[in-house]
Amino acid sequence: MNVVVQKYGGSSVADLARIGLVADRVVAAKRAGYDVCVVVSAMGKTTDQLLAMARQASASPPRRELDMLLSVGERTTMALLAIALHARGDDAISFTGSQSGIITNDRHFDARIIEVRPFRIEDELSRGRTVIVAGYQGMSYRREITTLGRGGSDTTAVALAAALGAERCEIYSDVDGVYSADPRVVPEARHIAAMGYEELQEMAESGAKVLNAEAVAFAKRERIAIYARRTSDAPDTAKETVVRHDAPRDALGVRAVVGDHQVAWIEGSAMSDGGLAALLAVADEAQVPLRELRCDGGRLGALVSLPRVPDWGRARAALEAAGVTATDPGADGAVSVVTLVGDGLTQDGRVLRGALDEARALGAAVRAVTTTPFRVSLVVPSTAADALTRRLHARFCEG
Ligand code: ADP
Ligand code: ASP
Ligand code: MG
Repeated sequence: MNVVVQKYGGSSVADLARIGLVADRVVAAKRAGYDVCVVVSAMGKTTDQLLAMARQASASPPRRELDMLLSVGERTTMALLAIALHARGDDAISFTGSQSGIITNDRHFDARIIEVRPFRIEDELSRGRTVIVAGYQGMSYRREITTLGRGGSDTTAVALAAALGAERCEIYSDVDGVYSADPRVVPEARHIAAMGYEELQEMAESGAKVLNAEAVAFAKRERIAIYARRTSDAPDTAKETVVRHDAPRDALGVRAVVGDHQVAWIEGSAMSDGGLAALLAVADEAQVPLRELRCDGGRLGALVSLPRVPDWGRARAALEAAGVTATDPGADGAVSVVTLVGDGLTQDGRVLRGALDEARALGAAVRAVTTTPFRVSLVVPSTAADALTRRLHARFCEG
């Protein structure tokens, strides 16, 4: 079988007209001789709307019920796309995540895929049918419905590409590939035609929304080539980003700048070993993964990626009761993190010094700095983050 997996994100299926365009693309891929497995996201902002409704119904919605609710978004799209394909004479069949054999751990709201058993998909593909799969969802080994974390349809697509032995995984969205910064924030951002997994993973983990970090990690492990494209572009002639293991390596230096507003910064002082262990237990219980954790001389600092936290209000209160302060997005004192991504960034102090210069010139008080050879991150007031992203891009990626 010559299988290709195509994934269409929320903006690509936002209404029936767009679903029709997706159906046309799928039919074209079939005519080109491929067995096509399509993964779809929820329509437009459906997931945000469902989440807001749940939070209106309760300040602390149970995670299991959140997953039951959120998984509905993708089910709507899968059925509508299958219907649109039938209208075009294509014998499509839609499957939920659990019907597709996507088995996850039992962590509701932010589950991880542990196994894929795609037998039903393989059967239908071998009958010549197009298979449409609801992204972002699976079933735990306890047979509970789970969701894979925000942006998780990318992960579904890559995991299925690996399980089906697909030739490649095509990710369609409203942008024609990966740029050196979010083009919505930095109009001068440069298109990247080819890149390796490591760099994209660093970008995704730093908060670049263009591809889900888990999906990139999966692709790297399974050596799945990713083609990131824009849904509305003409096939074959448009720009794209190809992500693969044998991409040419880049010279050392900064390759991209990533801004992430959906974070909180937690901080505490005079934390004993026992206090730290107690805080980590609270964080685990409230399902708060801590990023860039630093603990030194009793002072603690860490970033929290808020889209991964099911109930930030409750989690924040629990963390504060355990002795730390936490910033709140949207409130006074909110912070964002701006990250330079590349290679060899800490070979000398040049990159960090340049970044601090730009923050100073902007009058942005730097709350914290973290570095690895592949990332230099500054935690700054959210009000300054986009301007800092543009300045850093101009300094390190342009000219
Ligand atoms: P989808 O809903 O199709 O999954 P997303 O909204 O998750 O699409 O991702 C696409 C968006 O990612 C683009 O609209 C773009 O603004 C944003 N983005 C952020 N960083 C980058 C980047 N470095 N390169 C390209 N797009 C980026
Ligand atoms: N619908 C989910 C979200 O909005 C998953 C996805 O789009 O990938 O996060
Ligand atoms: Mg996405």
